[in-house]
Amino acid sequence: MNNSGGATISPDLVPDELYQPSSWQYKGEGNSNIILTYIGELDNFKLTVLRLRKSEEEKKDALNINNNSGGFSNKQDEQQDNSIQSSSIDPQTFTVFYVRDVIAPLIGTEHTSELALLRVTPTFLQKLSKSISSHRSSNRVNKDIDLKQRYAILSPDYTKFQSNNSSSSKQQESPTNTISIEIKPKWAFIPTSTHIAASNSIKRKTCRFCMHQYYKHKTTTTAVVTDYCPLDLFSLKEDRLRRAIGALISTPVNNFKLFVDGLLVDLAKTNWQLLLKGFFVHEKNGTNTLNEDNDNDNASKITEYLITLLTATILKEHILFSRLKHLQKTLDELDIEGIMKLLSSPTSSSSSYIQQLFAVEPSLEEWRTASLRYLERIEKHTGNGTLQSSNFNDNNGSSNEKPLMDDAEIKQRILEFLFSTTLKDSILKLDYYHDLDMKIVRNFLDYIKKELEETDDNSHSVFLGANKRKCFE
Ligand SMILES: [Zn+2]
Repeated sequence: MNNSGGATISPDLVPDELYQPSSWQYKGEGNSNIILTYIGELDNFKLTVLRLRKSEEEKKDALNINNNSGGFSNKQDEQQDNSIQSSSIDPQTFTVFYVRDVIAPLIGTEHTSELALLRVTPTFLQKLSKSISSHRSSNRVNKDIDLKQRYAILSPDYTKFQSNNSSSSKQQESPTNTISIEIKPKWAFIPTSTHIAASNSIKRKTCRFCMHQYYKHKTTTTAVVTDYCPLDLFSLKEDRLRRAIGALISTPVNNFKLFVDGLLVDLAKTNWQLLLKGFFVHEKNGTNTLNEDNDNDNASKITEYLITLLTATILKEHILFSRLKHLQKTLDELDIEGIMKLLSSPTSSSSSYIQQLFAVEPSLEEWRTASLRYLERIEKHTGNGTLQSSNFNDNNGSSNEKPLMDDAEIKQRILEFLFSTTLKDSILKLDYYHDLDMKIVRNFLDYIKKELEETDDNSHSVFLGANKRKCFE
């Protein structure tokens, strides 16, 4: 409790109703968290969700910062822990303070949620687990709510809107009709670091996300190769944005979710678009834009309207998207290949120094300091908002020279790189990350090679367009 300060709701002030399982309804879950939405009577909590950690036994020890085995299965690739942990602090408390003190200064407080900690007990968690069990999908139930967590996180439910057309407090609390989307945009840039080896130069032509699609296709039976390229989304050009959103809608995988009035829409269902009918019935020149008798026609019209709406919304939020791109690019300025050089070819005592540093995961205080130092570095190095080359050999293009950084700077760059991974894929392990990077590159080159051979043969069994994939910023 000492660390949680003002972000924790004092137990005396927590209404009993929050501890009634019937006040919470299952909303969704990922690999690491389960989200419940408040359906009780208290107006103050009407648009609130409760985030609970799931147990994580099967993966906890598998990933170690000094682990060089590189032999993780694809299942493990997909099952990375999506949150940051520290040995000295409760993980949920850590998350709340990490968002508030580390991420919010980088992204901007206007773009981050207000989170609060709610003290929970094993009995309450057990009851919740029971009450939501019938709503969970069978492919997720292998991991249950972690009964050992001491806190859950309360945050705003962004899938519902508060009505703001009345000053009456009662009406302000009631949700109005809402379309809400969740996008995991992933990598926003093509790396330019001079530390990328010539044999990996494909990384300068095809973005990491697009290459990763082919790796997933190779290693999992269910993966589809999507046409979505994050660089289209981050281009903030209308035609490319429309293409990106269209691809996200047709192959959402886990990068896109659509909610209508707080409920997740199943985008695999035929004519799901009709759920949005009420939002897109317009009178145009005296006629309704939707044809009452033709569902298929209406569905494709509504898809187009939705793409138009989302494109306009993203263009309106262009500052956030530009900021995310700039953050990813500057935090990951050296690329994982440069970071691995910092770790493996030090000029001084850096190797043992760095290993010592990461024997335990960085503390909240270390993350806070790194966040501030990054902002100072960016301010110092950028006159016009773009970071010029770093002082780590980027001036001569040689990829073999030893790092010129002192230990403190090396540590800073590694922490910055780890920030960048949380803004892209939420992976915090350097060796794992490097290993995956290499697998993705090798696999993509393999696909290109095979496709070129198959084109000669006039056979198309592996043709997925790898050699035609061109990504550009
Ligand atoms: Zn791409």
